[in-house]
Amino acid sequence: MQEIKVQLSKNKKEKPIDEQLPFGRYFTDHMFVMDYSEEKGWFDPRIIPYQPIVLDPAAIIFHYGQTVFEGLKAYVTKDQDVLLFRPDENMKRMNRSNQRLCIPEIDEDLALEALKKLISIDRDWIPTKEGTSLYIRPFVFATEPYLGVAPSTTYQFVIILSPVGAYYKEGMNPVKIAVESEYVRAVKGGTGGAKTAGNYASALKAQEVAEKEGYSQVLWLDGKEHKYIEEVGSMNVFFKIDGEIITPAVNGSILQGITRKSVIELLKYWEMPVVERKISMEEVYQAYKEGKLEEAFGTGTAAVISPIGELFWNDLKLTIHNGKTGELSKKLYDTLTGIQTGKVADPLNWVM
Ligand code: PMP
Repeated sequence: MQEIKVQLSKNKKEKPIDEQLPFGRYFTDHMFVMDYSEEKGWFDPRIIPYQPIVLDPAAIIFHYGQTVFEGLKAYVTKDQDVLLFRPDENMKRMNRSNQRLCIPEIDEDLALEALKKLISIDRDWIPTKEGTSLYIRPFVFATEPYLGVAPSTTYQFVIILSPVGAYYKEGMNPVKIAVESEYVRAVKGGTGGAKTAGNYASALKAQEVAEKEGYSQVLWLDGKEHKYIEEVGSMNVFFKIDGEIITPAVNGSILQGITRKSVIELLKYWEMPVVERKISMEEVYQAYKEGKLEEAFGTGTAAVISPIGELFWNDLKLTIHNGKTGELSKKLYDTLTGIQTGKVADPLNWVM
């Protein structure tokens, strides 16, 4: 494996107070950087002081968005150990995204090593208050100055770290979701299954409209028939209907969340009925009418589990579990966050 060089910062920044941590506004003292060229492949892995990136205005990333990113978290346990939740899965997903965006793959072991080394250098930045964590953002972008539409011949891979506050400050809070019937996030054959910037830019408009109407996020339907459920905001989604837990099967337009995967594995471990299949909004509405829609929740790194209290669809308001957090949502949240912070046993060996 290539050696990761380290240049330590001489100007340490002031650290924010755990109590006042927002999401993604503070960054640690160092960053990891590695370059790619066709002649050298990925080269010069290094940890350097956190600093701006200088790019040519013609760099492909600015014009055609050839880029991918990842998001995961590190936590400190009460014994001061640092735990990462399934980081190998993030690196695998990053390479799947790289393949889709014609970006050369990265050595996953080297990326993991880099991540661990960077965290150990900025160890003091990991907040310790209940619910807080260190958010990790690896990303790759095309750097070649060229206005032709073609894959870049040069890239940079960067990892930055951001201490973040507790997602739920006063207990789990069910969200109100508007079902999006006009805009779509992704289509089959498109880039929805990759974690790439364009998916997020194109989702902003629907989010803006939903927020104006008092909803916190949108529920995305499939891009062809506007019928089948895909995701909710930037989370995957689950429904508990008549005792069975259902999540949309991955189909190329859904991002394969690591929390989603973990929830499925945990439910199977608990011997609960869980299925991955197509599920339409009509089916959810029928279940609701028959009193069989027991719970709905989103899953993702940021909130871990986000219960859905209300769904707004075709002028209908579907109140789920009386707008309160359901038992399964709570149990999954407590178990996953317990595993992530080393408070409960890790039966499926997820933390490292
Ligand atoms: N869907 C989208 C579109 C996302 O951006 C995310 C966040 N990465 C997820 C789902 C959830 O994925 P994960 O559980 O890996 O955070």
